[in-house]
Amino acid sequence: GNNLMAGKRGLIFGVANNRSIAWGIAKALADQGAEIALTYQGDSLRKRVEPLAAELGATVVGHCDVTDMATIDAVFDVVKEKWGKIDFVVHAVAFSDKDELTGRYVDTTRDNFLRTMDISAYSFTAIAKRAEPLMTDGGSILTLTYYGAEKVMPHYNVMGIAKAALEASVQYLAVDLGGSEIRVNAISAGPIKTLAASGIGDFRYILKWNEYNAPLKRTVTIEEVGDSALYLLSDLSRGVTGEVMHVDSGYHVVGMKAVDAPDI
Ligand code: NAD
Repeated sequence: GNNLMAGKRGLIFGVANNRSIAWGIAKALADQGAEIALTYQGDSLRKRVEPLAAELGATVVGHCDVTDMATIDAVFDVVKEKWGKIDFVVHAVAFSDKDELTGRYVDTTRDNFLRTMDISAYSFTAIAKRAEPLMTDGGSILTLTYYGAEKVMPHYNVMGIAKAALEASVQYLAVDLGGSEIRVNAISAGPIKTLAASGIGDFRYILKWNEYNAPLKRTVTIEEVGDSALYLLSDLSRGVTGEVMHVDSGYHVVGMKAVDAPDI
């Protein structure tokens, strides 16, 4: 039956539109009976998030800009007031200046380095800290990362450094929160054409390269990431924490990638 998430309630950060990975996750969870609260970043995204929330019977709990701790506190306060406790949190938030998602990493500026780390890495810890007291029956916390944390990918640059910090955070948080039966995991998703990805240089080429080289010979969809997230956020994965699970058509296991893809 469709009840893997029955009785579970949680908060999702990072829906911008219907191409967002967070939206793929929200759909998979709602389909299995989860009750969902969504946040939005600023009024322009509110208009996009509200109709999407309505589609799932989800609640929009307010504006959250993760660089402003008061707005993180505010959305957790709303959820606490509404539900008292929560069972899961999804963090699907990242940002870097588009001008630095191209060219050489060595040219990154201090300002954008700090901003990228703040929004894309620190915010996960800020959110986990606020989730912990609400996860009174245990819980599952999930973030989204990319292979550029492990290996050098063209144009990913400072975002790769931030994702490496994010993946290390998953491990430290898993230890800190494990005693409260709170699990902390990440999905390392293959490239998907989203708003955030459109800022990365040569993104179409990266998609083609993945299609050509991944064992499954195709890229992944937000629905596929959503179904893997369902596993990590449900009790099916109750023995799993501190894990970075690749949902990338197997791309990360291929050591010898083809040089000349005929259709690139
Ligand atoms: P997206 O643009 O749909 O989502 C990014 C979200 O981050 C947006 O909702 C945006 O509002 C939010 N955000 C940015 N700055 C914020 C801030 N200061 N405060 C609050 N929210 C902020 O793109 P997406 O690809 O779905 O990205 C979701 C996550 O998945 C990101 O962490 C991204 O790095 C990761 N990821 C994406 C890909 C890909 O190819 N698209 C691959 C691997 C991992």
